Amino acid sequence: MMPKILIAGAGLTGALCAHILKRDLQHKIEIVVWEKARGAGGRMSTSRHPDNPQCSVDLGAQYISLTPQYAERHKSYHGELISNGVLKPLEGIIEGAVESAQGTLHYVSPNGTSSIVKHFLKNSGAKVEYGQFLSKLEASNVHESAQPDIPSVKLYLDTLSDGTAVEPTSTEKGIMIKIVANPQEEVSGGRSREVFDAVILTMPTEQILQQKGLVQEALAKRSLIKSHLQSVRYSARYALGLFFKQGTTLDVPWCARYVQGDPCVRWISADAKKRGADSSIVGPSLVVHTSVPFGIHYLEAEKEEVQSVIMQHLRQLLPDLPEPIQVMCHRWRYSQVSKPYQGTPGCVFLTNLPNYAIVAAGDAFTHSNLDGCISSAETTCERLMEYLSDSNQL
Ligand SMILES: Cc1cc2nc3c(=O)[nH]c(=O)nc-3n(C[C@H](O)[C@H](O)[C@H](O)COP(=O)(O)OP(=O)(O)OC[C@H]3O[C@@H](n4cnc5c(N)ncnc54)[C@H](O)[C@@H]3O)c2cc1C
Repeated sequence: MMPKILIAGAGLTGALCAHILKRDLQHKIEIVVWEKARGAGGRMSTSRHPDNPQCSVDLGAQYISLTPQYAERHKSYHGELISNGVLKPLEGIIEGAVESAQGTLHYVSPNGTSSIVKHFLKNSGAKVEYGQFLSKLEASNVHESAQPDIPSVKLYLDTLSDGTAVEPTSTEKGIMIKIVANPQEEVSGGRSREVFDAVILTMPTEQILQQKGLVQEALAKRSLIKSHLQSVRYSARYALGLFFKQGTTLDVPWCARYVQGDPCVRWISADAKKRGADSSIVGPSLVVHTSVPFGIHYLEAEKEEVQSVIMQHLRQLLPDLPEPIQVMCHRWRYSQVSKPYQGTPGCVFLTNLPNYAIVAAGDAFTHSNLDGCISSAETTCERLMEYLSDSNQL
């Protein structure tokens, strides 16, 4: 029977893992991706105006910098994105940017940064299920394999109908966890349970540490790994996305700007302009990222309150700002990695027993950008293929 792999998280690392495994193993592997949100992207997230899907904002990653350091090593990934039009050169001015290493080229995604993730996911042909929140892995002997005594990985999840993740409503070991159909109206008895041979966890490390069952058991035995996972730090910040009426003019000379000296706003991007979109068709859009100290200070505040404070600062910085037709506010509790996993190993095996493996991957194990995720996914897949081969599963 071919090995069945679960990738938890349809962010960039998860999508790249699916892409690499399928590229290298073709029909010898089955890949399933579970994503807690309603769509792919993770921190490469693109949000669309509800009435005009052509009008969008990148709330997370803003642009892609291809540095000479990775140009050769990752050229197949870069080349694929560029030749498929997923990335194109950034043409406008970024005001206040610190100088990049010589030879660095900046790119934007004409269809938003989530299109990078979607490109790799689509190419992988993996089965992707949205609104699936992985909360627990359990060993089970229900595996329909030739070796029924060998436990495999059993999974429990808990979702809201809109795909929002919730804490499990039941933590009784061995008992199915309820799927909550919507926050007010609990429907019990539903369940989603599947058996896998290996699991790749790509969510931020703090969320990996919250996984129940086998992950907790593994970490209880591997205290060094646990303490390294606990030591990973992320910055926190807010992102605001503003949409304006078609034909509105945003009178700014830049397509994006790093703001100095404001305690709240750190980055402003005229998002449609940044991507070279025709604002007479799609309407301009603006993205604002706050500074990290602001993000930390307001981390637990109500979003409405935070949105209004950011808007006040934005209006001081851009006094002629037209009235937006819609504003969305997103809290990035885990933004970029500020302190990676010790030694940046690319990934960490939480278990590698002969019957199942659980691997932690993502930018926490390298660094926060496209090349960091490619490096993590490459190491993860290489080591997973070694594991599958050593355990006679390939
Ligand atoms: C504000 C901001 C600005 C940035 N700017 C740039 C930039 O300009 N250029 C650049 O290259 N990079 C930038 N980055 C960094 C880049 O976005 C990240 O390094 C990259 O997206 C990380 O991808 P990942 O797949 O490792 O993690 P994630 O994108 O976090 O993916 C993890 C996925 O797992 C899902 N998930 C979490 N828990 C569960 C669960 N229990 N069950 C199922 N699914 C789950 C999440 O919903 C998510 O989709 C920025 C990031 C942020 C937040």
